[in-house]
Amino acid sequence: VLAKEDMIGMGTTQFKFLPAGELETLYYGNLGDAANMDAMTGIYNKGFLLQAIEVEFKRHKALHTDFSVIFFDLDHFKKINDGFGHDAGDCVLRETSGLIYSSAVRPKDVFARYGGEEFVIVMPETDMAVATIVAERLRRRIASEAFVIAGGAKKLDVTVSIGIATLDAPQDNAATILKRADQALYRAKRDGRNRVVADAA
Ligand code: GH3
Ligand code: MG
Ligand code: MG
Repeated sequence: VLAKEDMIGMGTTQFKFLPAGELETLYYGNLGDAANMDAMTGIYNKGFLLQAIEVEFKRHKALHTDFSVIFFDLDHFKKINDGFGHDAGDCVLRETSGLIYSSAVRPKDVFARYGGEEFVIVMPETDMAVATIVAERLRRRIASEAFVIAGGAKKLDVTVSIGIATLDAPQDNAATILKRADQALYRAKRDGRNRVVADAA
């Protein structure tokens, strides 16, 4: 078992400044636990995501830090499955996760598969302006990538639509901040897809 200081030294810790041990436990105690991971993409699953949002609310109450949530969904994903098969769809999901992990997710963020072709990034200590920059970088990264399938025989254009919400209303909770981000995502779809929409709230 590693001492906490060792973990900080190794860079696996994300939250050095938390006042309460309870919050650290979620992260230290569960790092790499298969129960928290999505088996197909290797990123966090929905259960862990919801816990991470609860942690961010507690931190917000204690330290008054902003946090933001990015909610995104692949555009017309059904067409990829229908046109190229479910396995190709699975490859696109894995590739998308990898691209985003390496281009838009910072060490302190929690990146999770919410379900199906929907993903969420929880961004601690991040206001709307910064979240918007990250979301736009993510969108461009996916839109500019040629996804190769069928052993290189085909290239797919893949895009994502993105909704962002930042904790500001004191009555917010994990469910409402996700709902606000999802509503913004819905507007991004309605307005033509392959775009970022911020929650107005
Ligand atoms: P929109 O732009 O409105 O999001 O359109 P869409 O086609 O992406 O959305 P829709 O909800 O109609 O279809 C999502 C599809 O994603 C349907 C479902 O079969 C597929 N899907 C969900 N999970 C997986 C998965 O793990 N692998 C694969 N290959 N497909 C999946
Ligand atoms: Mg969807
Ligand atoms: Mg979709």
